[in-house]
Parts: sequence; structure tokens; C-alpha cells
Amino acid sequence: MPKPSRSRVKACESCQLVSGTLYRAVVDASGKWKLVCPVCRAKVESQPFYRYGGTWKADKRH
Ligand SMILES: [Zn+2]
Repeated sequence: MPKPSRSRVKACESCQLVSGTLYRAVVDASGKWKLVCPVCRAKVESQPFYRYGGTWKADKRH
């Protein structure tokens, strides 16, 4: 039986770019956790407030 190949994608909570891979990270001084794309993460990873909490992937199997 064929499975639907619909991919689960999410948008970056900072720039709204839809990405198959997002990072859970703190990307501003508010200290709030967000799901952000690799571009936004790269912009802030040298900042003192930056924290990394994991990777989210659209093709993750369960
Ligand atoms: Zn982004």
C-alpha cells in the first residue's frame, strides 16, 4: 500500500523561511526558545545569548 509522501515542513520562527531542518535555539536576548533555520542560527551562534537545544528534521521517522 503506497504511503503519502507528504513532507512535514515548518517555517523558521525568525525569518519565516520554510526549511526541512530547523534548530531549537535561543536567538535573541529575550532568552526564549525558537525553531530557526540554519541561516538564522548561523547569524547568532557567536552571540552571548545563543543557546542550542536540538535539531528538528522534517523527515524524522517515528
Ligand atoms: Zn530563519
